Amino acid sequence: MKILIVEDEPKTGAYLNQGLQEAGFVVDLAAHGIDGQHRALSGSYDLIILDVMLPGLDGWAILQSLRAAGHQEPVLFLTARDQVSDRVKGLELGADDYLVKPFAFAELLARARTLLRRGRAREPESLQLADLELDLLRRRATRSGRRIELTAKEFALLELFLRRAGEVLSRSYIASQVWDMNFDSDTNVVEVAIRRLRAKIDDGFEPKLIQTVRGMGYVLEARGAS
Ligand code: CA
Repeated sequence: MKILIVEDEPKTGAYLNQGLQEAGFVVDLAAHGIDGQHRALSGSYDLIILDVMLPGLDGWAILQSLRAAGHQEPVLFLTARDQVSDRVKGLELGADDYLVKPFAFAELLARARTLLRRGRAREPESLQLADLELDLLRRRATRSGRRIELTAKEFALLELFLRRAGEVLSRSYIASQVWDMNFDSDTNVVEVAIRRLRAKIDDGFEPKLIQTVRGMGYVLEARGAS
């Protein structure tokens, strides 16, 4: 679990950094608004703790740019002023929770854990295309309601295809995502796995879902049967 803290007060920043690390989180700390925005937009964090008053760029602007760029990470903002208008503004801009300074670390930790749990709950429970459904919680695949037995690799492969449905995925990209290594010299591994997956999810069903894009890779989309 990775947390970004954007806080310009050195004492508060160090205190949060240390406390969250001791609680088992991986923590990045930014003390300047521009740096904070850059990290928030380029990193992938499970939670962002954002001070409002910052040099360079304030917390509101960072929050706005984050949401405008489609980032959905939970954001907890820290405000020094206990004013209703501030809290409302933060929540309207897409923050998930706030704390008024000064606060007890135990409270921040409790809020952070709640937001992290909620963040995970936002993950879809299943992925679907046409009559193919992948149940991520029960690790089950079905097509037209019929159970399809998949190996762990086939499951990971199908999950990748469903998450990126409609996009052409190259063999080397698939290899890097599913096997966590590069098969530049031997993308045959990918071809064999896809042939097996195709036999399981497409043979005997219409429309066909796994499409070969010659010279480029594969794409999952419903074609044919019309
Ligand atoms: Ca500040």
